[in-house]
Amino acid sequence: MEDGTGQMRRLLVVDDERIQRLIVARAVETLGFTTDAAATLQEAAALLGSQRYDAVVLDLSLGEAEGISLLQALRDSAGDPLVIFISRLDSRVRAASTRLAAAFGLRVAGALEKPVAPGTLRALLRSEPPSLPSRPRPAASAPTAEDLAGALARGELGAEFQPKVALPDGRIVGVEALARWRRADSTVIPPDLFIPIAEQNGLIEALTAQILQYALAACRRWRPGHPTCSVAVNISPLVLTNANLPEYIDHLLQEAHLGPGALVAEITESSVIANPLVAAEVLTRLRIKGVSLSIDDFGTGHSSLLTLLRLPFSELKIDRSFVSHCDTDPEAWKIVRATISMARELGLTVVAEGVETEEVAARLRTAGCDIGQGWHFGRPMPEDGLLEWMAARLVAVA
Ligand code: C2E
Ligand code: MG
Ligand code: MG
Repeated sequence: MEDGTGQMRRLLVVDDERIQRLIVARAVETLGFTTDAAATLQEAAALLGSQRYDAVVLDLSLGEAEGISLLQALRDSAGDPLVIFISRLDSRVRAASTRLAAAFGLRVAGALEKPVAPGTLRALLRSEPPSLPSRPRPAASAPTAEDLAGALARGELGAEFQPKVALPDGRIVGVEALARWRRADSTVIPPDLFIPIAEQNGLIEALTAQILQYALAACRRWRPGHPTCSVAVNISPLVLTNANLPEYIDHLLQEAHLGPGALVAEITESSVIANPLVAAEVLTRLRIKGVSLSIDDFGTGHSSLLTLLRLPFSELKIDRSFVSHCDTDPEAWKIVRATISMARELGLTVVAEGVETEEVAARLRTAGCDIGQGWHFGRPMPEDGLLEWMAARLVAVA
């Protein structure tokens, strides 16, 4: 068989077990692959350096060596080979290797348990995963610190608002403000692109101030109709090293004619807290003043159990990477359920973010999760859209 361009396709199988090399070579024969085989890392590296491959089948355990030591060589090799892992190790090791290879920018079709089932291997080879988006973005698309400073000066930064909904009865209990940069030409830049730039260039305090003002002003407008609906603002850990933050937030709340209960500070704890003592003091003072503190993206490695015990959080948000597919992924569901029960034991309000379907919402409700946030309830929207959403919801829930 040919690949449509008149060329034979070439596959490399790397496995220290001869019988497995033969099984793979035989299995792919009918797809028209010519197969080369390597038993060691060295042999494989030499072949990858001298020959272009369309696909590579790689055993994760090569005697004393690990197959994933070849990821760099695969990335540097000519062409863009489709990679398939094979292993006798458990599914979690196979999945971790797949993710690692994807993070390296390789095209991974999947990982199979050994002994390899020929039909499954052929099916994977027929699938053509797209080149992964994890390859670095071209630098040109990322805004510069100067662009951002200009945008802050021109007041181009605002927020969209996403509802947080009580799972037992569907009532709106809060709204998260998510920063958006709307350029003069109406293009909108998402926060993942400009928050790191703000953090790295001393602009994060100015940015946080602008979002806080924007969010509190909006909250002030919806409070008459929804007196208990709070607004949550994301606070970078870098900002917590400013000991004046509690007074500043007090001042902003007064200016907006709001009590401290109107604000929730969402914090992703990361290793970059330069001064943990000041951060702990700032958080404690905010909490004493009556501002709620939420630990964001819980479970992603930024936040730890120690953080929960050490700092006065009142709310825990389970990261969407566990929540969004917890109805189909039994392991994600176990983590979600255990986190809900731990948070409840600790007396924390528990929020699930990334709720995309009613199936997930129903599961969370049954497991005792307090609040849900996600596309199923409402996408992030501008203030006028939020007010419409709130009005429609009030009628629906009443
Ligand atoms: P986050 O605080 O965890 O915010 C939730 C993110 O999940 C938002 O992405 C939201 O649009 C997205 N999301 C909400 N529901 C769903 C869903 O059902 N499915 C999926 N797949 N995604 C959902 P967004 O707006 O792109 O924000 C990304 C991150 O940027 C935020 O994550 C937060 O860490 C950061 N960020 C946003 N605004 C600010 C800000 O004002 N200051 C700081 N320091 N960070 C901010
Ligand atoms: Mg957040
Ligand atoms: Mg989050």
